[in-house]
Amino acid sequence: MNQRFVDELATHLPKNARRGEVVRVAERFRVGRLEVVTREASKLDPFVKYLFRCEDGAAIEAVRIPLEKPGRFVACVSSQVGCALGCRFCATGRLGLSRNLEAWEIVEQVRAIRRELPKGSRVHGVVFQGMGEPLANAERVMQSIRVMHDPCGQAIEQRAITVCTAGVPGGIRKLAASELRVRLGVSIAAARREVRRSLLPVEDANPLDEVLAATAEYVRTRGDAPMLAVTLLGGVNTSDEDADAFGRLALSFREETGVAPRLSIVTYNPSEGDVFARASDEELRRFHDRLSRFGVPVVRRYSGGGDVGAACGQLVGREQAQSSSPLPASNPG
Ligand code: SF4
Repeated sequence: MNQRFVDELATHLPKNARRGEVVRVAERFRVGRLEVVTREASKLDPFVKYLFRCEDGAAIEAVRIPLEKPGRFVACVSSQVGCALGCRFCATGRLGLSRNLEAWEIVEQVRAIRRELPKGSRVHGVVFQGMGEPLANAERVMQSIRVMHDPCGQAIEQRAITVCTAGVPGGIRKLAASELRVRLGVSIAAARREVRRSLLPVEDANPLDEVLAATAEYVRTRGDAPMLAVTLLGGVNTSDEDADAFGRLALSFREETGVAPRLSIVTYNPSEGDVFARASDEELRRFHDRLSRFGVPVVRRYSGGGDVGAACGQLVGREQAQSSSPLPASNPG
């Protein structure tokens, strides 16, 4: 029996519950644990990157991101071991998919980060932007959100949880049909279809039009502005045509749904031997200014932790390269 679980359970049951009762409950339920392999604090910013080992030996990553308000953090979590979508600029995409994470393995990333927070701090929000496509593992992701939100779990507001997808219309609809009230983010990569196809192979199976149609349905049931994000890759998706196409896409989305999406442009953290580069400051400024002319809210997001491989999959990729034990064989669950 897991002694840690018994002790932890004892703190949640009524004060007058006897030790024997606690042990009986613990005997009926099993609790797994993720091992923290490394935690790397960035020297550039207050990001901390975690590498976890699952019970079957699989390696996954999470990132602790500070918010402006002192003592508040966001946990960026993984939803799969690897990813099948193969986005060209993503280190996780290069690993391929090993398996889906269980709901408890997702929650455990948040708990592990919370355990190590400075006194008086808390995990305010969660973003599904670590390894994996969360909506390809929609049921377990939704179950993990229920647990995170539950007052007996992590008591995290659903509105502080963002599910980011590279484009799985069926998963977006599943989320829309659920009782959950989380925020939705969609990685556009490029609004021009030929550029998007060259970056996101999933464009062939799930064209952007279908992804946006499902996103529009989500918005109609929620009334909530989705975030549409583009990660800027130097010389690849940063042209004036790309900025204009993104702006037009935002306007037609607003026209169709009555809700203006929140546009997000993100800096890129290249990994070792990467064929893509971070967009220059000039490219970033020009893209932002051009996009702003469309009158839709645009935020520039800083992709932090560049020195600790904080972009998803970079740490696992590095660990795999250094380790003789590969990730476990495919088990899509
Ligand atoms: S960006 Fe996200 S969806 Fe694309 S390969 Fe990486 S983990 Fe998968």
